[in-house]
Amino acid sequence: MPIRTTQGRGQRYDSILDTIGDTPTIRINRIAPAHVNVFVKSEAFNPGGSVKDRLALNIIEAAERDGRLKPGQTVVEATSGNTGIGLAMVCAAKGYPLVVTMAESFSVERRRLMRIFGAKVVLTPKELKGFGMYSKAKELAEKNGWFLASQFETADNADIHEATTAREILGDFDGEKLDYFVTGYGTGGTVTGVARVLRRESPETKIILTEPANAAIVGSGYVNTRNAQNQPTEGHPNFNPHPIQGWTPDFIPHVLQESIDNGYYDDLIPIPGPDGIAWSRRLAAEEGIFVGISAGATFATAMKVAETAPEGANILVMLPDTGERYLSTPLFEGIAEGMTDEEVEISLSTPYGQMEG
Ligand code: PMP
Repeated sequence: MPIRTTQGRGQRYDSILDTIGDTPTIRINRIAPAHVNVFVKSEAFNPGGSVKDRLALNIIEAAERDGRLKPGQTVVEATSGNTGIGLAMVCAAKGYPLVVTMAESFSVERRRLMRIFGAKVVLTPKELKGFGMYSKAKELAEKNGWFLASQFETADNADIHEATTAREILGDFDGEKLDYFVTGYGTGGTVTGVARVLRRESPETKIILTEPANAAIVGSGYVNTRNAQNQPTEGHPNFNPHPIQGWTPDFIPHVLQESIDNGYYDDLIPIPGPDGIAWSRRLAAEEGIFVGISAGATFATAMKVAETAPEGANILVMLPDTGERYLSTPLFEGIAEGMTDEEVEISLSTPYGQMEG
């Protein structure tokens, strides 16, 4: 095999923000069943490490365009992490102060990541769940005249997936059929934006939505109440805390409602959190693809889809973020810090620099 060569991207970027999107579609070679072709779209390649970079940039630039956001105005948002990290990166690059509200239950890495970008992180009690951090952000925006990013309601969310993520998918499957597109939801921006385009331009693609088995709020059929601004006015009764950070808040967001109302998914498959963790570990250890728990959960769902998919089917799985922000979570439970017995044995097998653990 000849040595690998590269050519550069043929351009110089004016800003880190111009590197958002155009994430790669990658074949799964070892852990998927042989009768199907499984591909993943790895959003970890975004500069902020997640799919939410897309939304963060569009929320800020759309608000700049139509004057909702003034130069130097503080931005505030409730976020479990990735939107906060994306917004923190965008606000740092553009010079806006950012305040993020976040339930204390989310991973410590995420808070510190936002702070290194210069954001302020205001924690809310875990008993108040997603609805609590959300109410706090709203209150802070109203009291201080800050710009509320409103990822769960704003049209700028699904619009950017329609304009970028969906176009990339069609481009990557140009001249090929795409049989299944599998995704979870947090705000619902990904599924709604991508589905708008697939339904129009690739109507044969089956769209599979997934949610945590112990928080199957869409599957319950009950839709929580919302106010005139489309904000939830109650938590969803079928919600339970789940380990799939970034998925399913304790209400059905307005952005996701468009997918429900328009029948944008062909199947809704619940997936247990531990399955997500198990598949995330397998993606890292057997494919070299290091991603978060929601990515593992989406992949777990795709493996269920594969069981009944016809021979030669092409399945595309959304992998929303990198695994690096999960070090303190169950994803890394049982991953040793000190040497394992096997590692000690390797150390002791030659005389130099032996360590007993
Ligand atoms: N996974 C993770 C880790 C996320 O942070 C998010 C966004 N909250 C999602 C999945 C879901 O994406 P969306 O908000 O577009 O539905």
